[in-house]
Amino acid sequence: MLNLFNTMTRTVAEFRPIDEKMVSLYTCGPTVYNYAHIGNLRTYIFEDILKRTLFFSGYQVHHVMNVTDVGHLVSDADTGEDKMEVSAQSQGKQIGEIADFFFRAFQLNLADLNILEPDLWCKATDHIPEQIEFIEKLEKKGLTYIIEDGVYFDTSKFPDYGHLARKDKDGLKAGARIDLVAGKRLTTDFALWKFSPKGKQRLMEWDSPWGTGFPGWHIECSAMAMKYLGARIDIHCGGIDHISIHHTNEIAQVESITGNRWVNWWMHGEFLILGRAGAPDFERMSKSSGNFITLEVVKKQGIEPLAFRYFCLNAHYRSPLTFTWQALTAASRSFAKLKMRMLELKENHPEVAAASEAYLGVFQEAVMDDLNMPRALAALWEMLKDTTITPSCKLATLTVMDSILGLNLEMVQKQEILLSEDIQILIQKREQARKEKNYQQADQIRNELLLKGIILQDTTQGTRILLQ
Ligand code: AMP
Ligand code: ZN
Repeated sequence: MLNLFNTMTRTVAEFRPIDEKMVSLYTCGPTVYNYAHIGNLRTYIFEDILKRTLFFSGYQVHHVMNVTDVGHLVSDADTGEDKMEVSAQSQGKQIGEIADFFFRAFQLNLADLNILEPDLWCKATDHIPEQIEFIEKLEKKGLTYIIEDGVYFDTSKFPDYGHLARKDKDGLKAGARIDLVAGKRLTTDFALWKFSPKGKQRLMEWDSPWGTGFPGWHIECSAMAMKYLGARIDIHCGGIDHISIHHTNEIAQVESITGNRWVNWWMHGEFLILGRAGAPDFERMSKSSGNFITLEVVKKQGIEPLAFRYFCLNAHYRSPLTFTWQALTAASRSFAKLKMRMLELKENHPEVAAASEAYLGVFQEAVMDDLNMPRALAALWEMLKDTTITPSCKLATLTVMDSILGLNLEMVQKQEILLSEDIQILIQKREQARKEKNYQQADQIRNELLLKGIILQDTTQGTRILLQ
């Protein structure tokens, strides 16, 4: 039985899909004006664990992810510039070039992290007619108004507005925020279609029944999710920052057209926050504030992407996770140990055996309990330590567990390697330390090598060198 937390009800409940076999899943995708940062990637890792858990539970999954290449403004209050336009202008490139480049970079991040790609990618700019049609429907129902700046959704006409975010209705009055667009009736009203600024041509703009301009960010997800997954969806995901505005507005748009509940399960991943050395305070990792780390930076530090995935699994997706290099390094070390155990089992115990039902049971119970991956990992380590089960049974159990963890353990292989000079020096130093019975130093060097992807195994025939 799979139990999942639903942001809409704020409770954990048994997951039941609309269709017995097929789960429809929509995950809000990247805004491709820059590289994804590891905070964004934490959210995609959580969604990947969810998807793998659904597969493990016997479901098929129809997964759609959007690519935002227009309409995501610098401010959530419908003011400020379009992130894509700002990026293209600052780099002196075409928007299409920027979008393609960062989308490709994003896909490479997913591959590095062993995140399964969606069945369907959909780009906002490929769906302008669908978005215009959607706005027309809202207009026919009398839910919109036009001001100088664009076409707006009138949130006062949707009685349930803000329920997902438990927004305080008193806080929704016009004027509550300083950056309110002129003419906007309520702070919560939001742009469906923005007009191009007078006398200025945007890099991207389209004709519409209301005037030249571009679609708002929220209409994009509603129009594409409905087109590809229909008027009722099982699960819709994103990071927690989407609860109060983006997803709240998506619900208002769709449900005021259909009159029915749109999404059965709303699921949100907590933030990755940045712990700064020596500072007691923490801040959210975000692209706009410039304080972010990409997967490339992690790789340049000699830490492999899957070690970051492992790091993320050590926290529940609904808890904030503090990033420090120290914490990531510690996770990387323990991931390297896990790979070493896997390799040892694979090489020395290839005989086929059944997985341990008892340990799989504990592991599965944790995963099914709202994706409690820290508990699931604890079960994994417990199993590896247990001397009462055979190595081949451990190997089989680990393999099944990894179908959810997605750490690619089966691919761990011994490889021929050309050792760089600095690595050779470290290995010699370690040998020397061992000869001198300075085991503390020998272990320290071994850990240093582990971080560089070199695994040393001391055997009766001497030390073996393996590459992760
Ligand atoms: P964006 O590309 O900015 O639209 O964000 C992509 C995804 O990352 C969304 O689901 C966001 O909610 C999520 N996100 C943004 N910042 C963070 C963060 N610091 N930690 C975790 N997820 C985040
Ligand atoms: Zn979205």
